[in-house]
Formats: sequence, C-alpha cells, structure tokens
Amino acid sequence: MTPYRMLIDGQLVEGARTIPVIDPSTGESFADAHVADETQLDEAVAAAARAFPGWASTSWQKRRECLLRFALRLDEEADYFARLLVREQGKPLSEARFEVDATVRGIRFYADIELKVEIRDHPTGPYEVERQPLGVVAGITPWNFPMILASNKYAPALIAGNTVVLKPAPTTPLTTLELGRLAADVFPRGVLNIVADDNDLGARLTGHPDVAKVSFTGSTITGKAVMRSAVEDMKRVTLELGGNDPAIVLQDADIEAAARGLAAAVFLNAGQVCAAPKRLYIAEEVYEEFQERFVAATREIRLGAGDEEGVTLGPVQNRMQFDKVRALIEEAAKSGTVLTGGHVANRPGFFVEPTIVADLSDEARLVTDEQFGPVVPLLRFTDEGDAIARANQGSFGLGASIWTRDLKRARLLARGISAGSVWINQHTAIHPDIPFGGVKQSGLGSEGGMEGVHEYTRLQVVNAAA
Ligand code: NAD
Repeated sequence: MTPYRMLIDGQLVEGARTIPVIDPSTGESFADAHVADETQLDEAVAAAARAFPGWASTSWQKRRECLLRFALRLDEEADYFARLLVREQGKPLSEARFEVDATVRGIRFYADIELKVEIRDHPTGPYEVERQPLGVVAGITPWNFPMILASNKYAPALIAGNTVVLKPAPTTPLTTLELGRLAADVFPRGVLNIVADDNDLGARLTGHPDVAKVSFTGSTITGKAVMRSAVEDMKRVTLELGGNDPAIVLQDADIEAAARGLAAAVFLNAGQVCAAPKRLYIAEEVYEEFQERFVAATREIRLGAGDEEGVTLGPVQNRMQFDKVRALIEEAAKSGTVLTGGHVANRPGFFVEPTIVADLSDEARLVTDEQFGPVVPLLRFTDEGDAIARANQGSFGLGASIWTRDLKRARLLARGISAGSVWINQHTAIHPDIPFGGVKQSGLGSEGGMEGVHEYTRLQVVNAAA
C-alpha cells in the first residue's frame, strides 16, 4: 500500500504529485509525500462542507466516542509515530515519544468537553445561551511540533461539531498524513480531511469561501497574510504566531534550579519552540554564578541524530532555518562573547552546537529577533523595573518567565509583563487543559482549555418573551 497519502472525503488518495521529505540529520530525502493540487484541495473543502450538517447534529457522546477511538489508535501506534517524527522533524526519540503521548492526552482532554446550553436568569425572564459549531475549519501547522499542534486544532474543532481540513508544513508532512490512515476508519467521511502541499496551497485554503474559520500556527508574517485573507468573508481566525520570550532571573532565585530549568527550556526541540526562553535577563548580583552554572548545564547536552542513543539535542529541522540560525550566530559572535558552542557540527545534516552568547547590546539581532534555534543571549540587569521594560520591548508577547524565591513578588511583576503566559520558576509549561495564546503580534485567540474549544464556536442567544 502506498504510504503518506492524503485523506479526502473518507478516502486515502494519492496526490497530483509527490514531494521529497528530507531527514534533517542527513540532509537527504528519505520518503515521498503526496501533495494536493488546487482541485484536490477544493475537493477536501467540499467534502468537509458536505459532512458538516451531519457531524454538527451528531450527539456529543458519538463525537466523543470517535475522538477517543482515534486517540486509542494513535496510542497503539505510538512507537511508529514517534520514530517517523524523529525522521522527518529531527528531534530526539525521547522528545518524539513525549510529543505523541501529549497528543494522545490532548485529544482525550478535548473529547471530554461537552458544550451545554446554558440557561441564564434575567429581570425580563430566563434566556438560553448556546455555543454552535462554525462549519469548515482550516487547520494549518508549522514544522516544529507537527503532531501536538495539529491536535490542538482538529480535536477541539471536531468535538464542537465542526469539520476540518488539516494542512501540515511541507517539510514535516508525514506524521500528519499518517493520521489520515487512522482517521479513515474512525470518523464519518469528510469530517476530517488531510491534505499536504509544497508551501503553495495555504493562501487558497484560508481564502476559500466555504471555510468558516482558520486556525493557524506559524510565523507572524504568514499569520498577517492569513488575517488579511479572512477579511472578505469575515472568517474567524485563531493565530498562534512567533515569540521572543524573555526570562528574568532575580537576585533571590535558586540559581542552580534556574540555570538547569532554563537550559532545558532553551534547547528543547533545538530551540524551535514558539514559547521557548529566547533572551535571558540576569540580575547583576548573581550574573557570574548563573553564567557558570548555565554554561555547565548546556555543556551536558549531547548533540546528535534523534535516534542515536543518549542524544538530547537534534538537528535544526530544515536547511532554511539552519542557514538563518548559522547567520545569527556568526553575526552575534562579532559583537558578543561566545561562552560555549558557536559552530555548526562537522557532519552532514543541519546540526548546530548549543550556543550561548554574552555581552550583546539590546539592539543585537539575536536579542531583538526570534532565533528559533539552539542559541541564546545572556543579558545583565541592575534594576528590576528596567528588566521588565526591556522584556516588554519588541512586537512579540507570547510567554515570559520570572525566576525567584519570592512568589508574591513574582506574581506582582508578572502583571507588568505583556505576554499571554507568564511562568514562575519554569518556562514553556504548556498543557492541553490550560489556555495558551499570544498578545501583541504573537497571536490572536487561544488554544487549550475550555477557551480553546470556544474558539471553534459562535454564540447563539435564544430569548423568549415572558
Ligand atoms: P510559516 O508561517 O512559514 O508556515 C506555517 C504554515 O503556514 C505552513 O504549513 C505553511 O505551508 C503555511 N503557509 C505558508 N504560506 C501561507 C499562506 N500565505 N497562507 C496560509 N498558510 C501558509 O512558519 P514556519 O516557519 O513553518 O514555523 C515557524 C514559526 O512558527 C515560528 O515563528 C514560530 O514561533 C511559530 N510557531 C508558533 C507557535 C505558537 O503556538 N505560537 C507554535 C509553533 C511555531
């Protein structure tokens, strides 16, 4: 049977053509993915539109049953999906296993959410508030967490009664396409459709008149294009975009815990995490100690292919990102001090050493831009207020963290930070049952929690005369 086909109207179909998928640990193609042409994309949207009335009127219990069966099938094939994820994405096998497990947990979480009609009292008499599904949802994902990020879209959309057309990033299409194989036996035809592309069909999908809602995760620049394309039909949009998260280590922090916690968060998934700490502000009094411990923790990281024993840092996912990260490091090395790393590995594939750069100005590109790779700047501060002001600079506002033993103070400082999530003594603590989203140009709306399901609904009020 041909692998990596698309799911359109309940059928696994070959695409108009295929594209090669590159293993980032070798730089060589290892599989071919079927990709859609415009006609196939339109067929997927039409199938979702046809399936919508039936799925919307299916009981919550039946929709829940389908999602739980889907989660079970994925759980049964967890090892297969984790290994495929390593091949196409590059992450270490332990992180891939975590991603598949988290995906299964996320689907199960959403499956249990029932949207009930609420009856509210009012002086003129009680009225009803109902959350209704929107219609066809387009889900578009990037290449850093192909499995989790897709499930943040199709699972809440489906449980709320919408139908879905899902499109992965062209450099990591395989695990998403393979979900189609599981979905084909589980969902009624047309309810979940999966199409891949060669980075050429996103705009057609988001601009399609039969799409009611776009849920997009990716870069801010593409997010703006998505928002523009939604204007004509006033489509609903959820945008999970880029970030340049600050982490602030206060004088009274547990420095060893902060150094270890931040090293783990900075280099998770080779730094390709929307809400990774991407600039570290350290109180002057503890700077030297933090630097020493942070460098030591980073030097324990083992760089290698995701399926090599003991590896904790994989390659960067694709050539374009590899070139971008390499250029950022070269530029930062000219004006700053490289404390560890600083090079790409001398082997095929897209390997970058875990890199820390100190002594940069706030205007350096490594500080102002989203690096999305295994390199981070260390910055000093003498005044807390000044650290918060610097943390708030720039157009992003996804996550931030404060490291201190004084939780009361941290909560107070958190209120002054422009970010969708502020973590205390941790970073990137993202869970399917906790809402997550960006402010400023990091996004619009949220994923996770009940709020993540509400994003796929519209309110209807029914109010009868007393
Ligand atoms: P990208 O914006 O280039 O691509 C994301 C997806 O959009 C891909 O599937 C791509 O094919 C598609 N696309 C391309 N052009 C499109 C168009 N005109 N209309 C609609 N879709 C289009 O992003 P990327 O480089 O794949 O991902 C990296 C970025 O994603 C980083 O900035 C990162 O911070 C961000 N990200 C954000 C979150 C979050 O939750 N906030 C999570 C992960 C990644």
